[in-house]
Amino acid sequence: MTNPERFKNITPSALPSRIEELGEPKFRAKQIFKWVYQKRVGSFGEMNNMPKTLRERLSGLFTLQKMEPLFIKESKFGDAVKFGFSLVESPHLVESVLLYDDDRRTACLSSQLGCALGCVFCQTGKMGFIRNLTQEEIIGQLIGINDYLMSKSDKLVTNIVFMGMGEALSNFRNFLSSLQIIMHEDAFNIGGRRITVSTAGVIPSIERLMEEELNIGLAISLNAFTNEQRDRLMPVNRKYPIESLVSIAKSYFNKTGRRVTFEYVLIEGETDSLEAADTLQRFLGGFPCKINLIPLNPSSDSVLRNTSDSNLERFSDQLHQRGLSATIRKSRGQDIWGACGQLSGRMIDR
Ligand code: SAH
Ligand code: SF4
Repeated sequence: MTNPERFKNITPSALPSRIEELGEPKFRAKQIFKWVYQKRVGSFGEMNNMPKTLRERLSGLFTLQKMEPLFIKESKFGDAVKFGFSLVESPHLVESVLLYDDDRRTACLSSQLGCALGCVFCQTGKMGFIRNLTQEEIIGQLIGINDYLMSKSDKLVTNIVFMGMGEALSNFRNFLSSLQIIMHEDAFNIGGRRITVSTAGVIPSIERLMEEELNIGLAISLNAFTNEQRDRLMPVNRKYPIESLVSIAKSYFNKTGRRVTFEYVLIEGETDSLEAADTLQRFLGGFPCKINLIPLNPSSDSVLRNTSDSNLERFSDQLHQRGLSATIRKSRGQDIWGACGQLSGRMIDR
């Protein structure tokens, strides 16, 4: 007997025809979709507005098995929770983070196991690229986080950032179909204004994203102020240098009306100088964009050091004086290794 197909890998656009192929009316696809992504059931047996025979038939063909959280670590500061989900397609763990901000519940999702881009300050980059996550493995993180919030009688996820492991735009197909589920009113119903994808700046993928007209937020990890320095810290810069990032950010704004965020990690003696502030003004001044200053989080074997709090404040002031819109991203989840650049997808022993 063959294994049942993993239902959550069926794309939303393929689902109606897959259900019709079974000789079922179209409205069933909508019903099932709601049960799986809105009510987050783990079996077809629970779909009590459908005939029992159909439920049994679906159970034989497909599985709704969930990705189990192997660990859930709550930050002692109460503002972040890190999850390690066991994957179904390989013996790895994928990590995701839930962040609390007043009324907001933001899920920071992973899109790949490891990452091919090898930024020197990033723990995920150190793993190298293992593989893309499937649609089910991306959405499964969100399902797991919502199950957790529900168990706490809390509200469900309101915002999504693709800032976990990997480059979502380099896993374009699965990223896109996951977004369709995230944004769908019968599923997670989270609008483009509350979704952001972060990229190290793979220009052709950003162009492709623009063609989709999803109106989601774009964040570009800049992290350096000269090409020489960015080549060293983020090897992808050799292909897509700073000028090309600035140019695509302008196009993104013109096309979507959304200001692009530039993420900028503060590394002591590297990226936190007065010269850096001047140069950023030359690159980013005069067009609508935002700068997100991120304190460097420690990774296991890096020699790079975080800038001091006072330097961080000073740098932020210098950017403001130069007319740039900069905010400091509070570092959360450090005590649970859930902060930016600290996620890794270890192997697990089942
Ligand atoms: N691959 C995407 C998204 C994942 S990384 C990207 O690079 O944009 C999410 C953010 O964490 C990026 O802005 C990245 O620059 C930042 N980051 C990586 N390592 C970090 C570290 N050690 N400390 C602080 N931020 C880090
Ligand atoms: Fe990959 Fe982003 Fe980490 Fe760079 S910072 S290695 S692009 S996950």
